[in-house]
Amino acid sequence: MRERGTPGLKASTLILGAGVSGLSTALALLKHGYYVTLLDRGAVGGESSWAGGGILSPLLPWDYPEPLSRLALHSMAAYANWVADIEVRSGRIAEYWQCGMRVLGATQPDTSLAWCKAHGLTAQLMHTNTGDSLWLPDIAQVRNPCLVAALRAAVVQLGGLIHEHCPAAGVLTQGGRVTAVQTSADTFPADSVVLATGAWSGLGLAGLAATPQIRPIRGQMLLFKLEPDVLDTILYRNGLYLIPRRDGHVLVGSTLEDVGFDKSTDAATRQRLHSDAAELLPALAAVQPVQHWAGLRPGSPDNIPIIDRHPDFDNVFVNTGHYRYGVTLAPASAELLVDVMEGKAPALDATPYRWQAALGRRWTQAL
Ligand SMILES: Cc1cc2nc3c(=O)[nH]c(=O)nc-3n(C[C@H](O)[C@H](O)[C@H](O)COP(=O)(O)OP(=O)(O)OC[C@H]3O[C@@H](n4cnc5c(N)ncnc54)[C@H](O)[C@@H]3O)c2cc1C
Repeated sequence: MRERGTPGLKASTLILGAGVSGLSTALALLKHGYYVTLLDRGAVGGESSWAGGGILSPLLPWDYPEPLSRLALHSMAAYANWVADIEVRSGRIAEYWQCGMRVLGATQPDTSLAWCKAHGLTAQLMHTNTGDSLWLPDIAQVRNPCLVAALRAAVVQLGGLIHEHCPAAGVLTQGGRVTAVQTSADTFPADSVVLATGAWSGLGLAGLAATPQIRPIRGQMLLFKLEPDVLDTILYRNGLYLIPRRDGHVLVGSTLEDVGFDKSTDAATRQRLHSDAAELLPALAAVQPVQHWAGLRPGSPDNIPIIDRHPDFDNVFVNTGHYRYGVTLAPASAELLVDVMEGKAPALDATPYRWQAALGRRWTQAL
């Protein structure tokens, strides 16, 4: 049996899953004086949090239900300072860049403009010979592997412990509480447990019920390398996006595939993404992708995450189901979860993110 984290004023918390959800929760708890240990079945941030694009906004922000928009806007407002703090603590950069996003082929620009105005997001309608586009200058991005590395270093700098290649298999319980988490080799005691296992949270653990409605949704991505400054803003058209990095890399995404825990990629998708991207940015026609990968998003109906206490145990909490926007939602979700854990009134109405609310949602919409 492992030693419980050093006893102190605040309890020791075991976080299962060290993607952006688990790491941001760890950071928030450490800042509140908790002792934190993270377990990940693979490498830190090696799943969806590594695979994603790092756009810090819902793609068409006006297209989502209010609970998602509210959480996203709260996060987006906090992001620059959140990242700056992580960078100072870690001594690493996350490549936060407010590069803006251009939405081409805007279908109902007046409705979108009205939504942006009502929600405090700057938006400008541009008329070009290829149709209407919307310019959203507030939208920023981070570079996923850099954010994950910086978060990890900040967590360690604050005293967090991280165990990689250490899959949680089940829980030990006593009197309606989880007392420890078991892996194949060890038992980790804890005063509280946070489930942040992304797409895998829909599987549950031995003795711990799975989170409702969460399932893996695969997304394939292509990476290109151009000269720096060929593209200096995010481009979006009809489900496809191009994300420039400062060093000339351009990411192209993505797909929404309901294929279980299968991270394979295919040549037909590679060709389709490449030719669609070259229509938006002709410089891509002449180059081949330098990388092609797939990640598994923690899919949830309406893209609304579950941030709540687990219904079966008083000292187990959940931060998962962020689907397409887990990088965007990380700061606000972590803050909300800590409020829930401490029994404080949250800054946002927490009702839509409750376990109970998730039970009432269904996968009805097309992906
Ligand atoms: C192609 C693609 C593009 C995306 N683009 C964007 C974007 O532009 N902007 C945005 O905001 N979001 C984007 N996302 C979504 C975002 O990446 C996810 O919502 C986010 O990374 C989810 O983070 P997470 O920590 O919950 O999950 P993950 O990063 O998947 O982390 C979960 C972790 O739990 C671990 N785990 C699982 N089971 C166990 C266990 N039993 N014991 C211990 N550990 C376990 C896993 O190994 C994993 O490391 C994209 C996703 C994809 C795939």
